[in-house]
Amino acid sequence: MPHFDLFFKTEELRRRLEPHLRLIPSFFEFTIRTGTPEVRYFDQKDPMWKGFPFPVPEKTVYVFDDAIPARALGGGMDKRASIRVTRDDHDDEAIALRIWHEVLHAIGQPADDMAKRAGEWQSVSDRLMWTAWQSLSRSVDVPFWHRKFYEWLTERAAEGQA
Ligand SMILES: [Zn+2]
Repeated sequence: MPHFDLFFKTEELRRRLEPHLRLIPSFFEFTIRTGTPEVRYFDQKDPMWKGFPFPVPEKTVYVFDDAIPARALGGGMDKRASIRVTRDDHDDEAIALRIWHEVLHAIGQPADDMAKRAGEWQSVSDRLMWTAWQSLSRSVDVPFWHRKFYEWLTERAAEGQA
C-alpha cells in the first residue's frame, strides 16, 4: 500500500482540507504534517512549471497555496506529488480530488486518461449517461466522473496493475 508523508504548507490549509482526505480510498495512507518538505524546481524557463515546488524526498506530497506564484495546479510522478490551492478554489472536495489525481500519477497510474480509457472503466449505465452528458455538451471534466475514474484506477493499482 502506498504511504505518503503529506505536508500542508500552513495550519490553515491543513484545518480546511484534512477532513476531505477521507474521500480518497484507504489504499492510500497518509501521515499528515504541517510545513514544507525539501523541494526542488523544474525547468525555470517553462512558464507552466516556473516556481512550482516539487518534493525531493520520495513518498512525499506537498499541498501549497497561492503565496507561491506557480502556474500549474498539480504534478505527480515518481512517488512524489505537489498540489496548488488557488484563491479561486472554493470547492474543497474538488481539491481533495486533485490530490487523489496527483497521487495516482505518483504511483504510475494514467490519471489523465479518463476519456481515452472510458471503454475500460465505465459500466453500461455509466456509458449511457456519459453519452447523454456529452450530447448535452456538458463537460465530462467534473468531480462526478473524476471520482468514478479514480476509484477504478485505485482498484487496479491495488490489484498490482500499472
Ligand atoms: Zn494529471
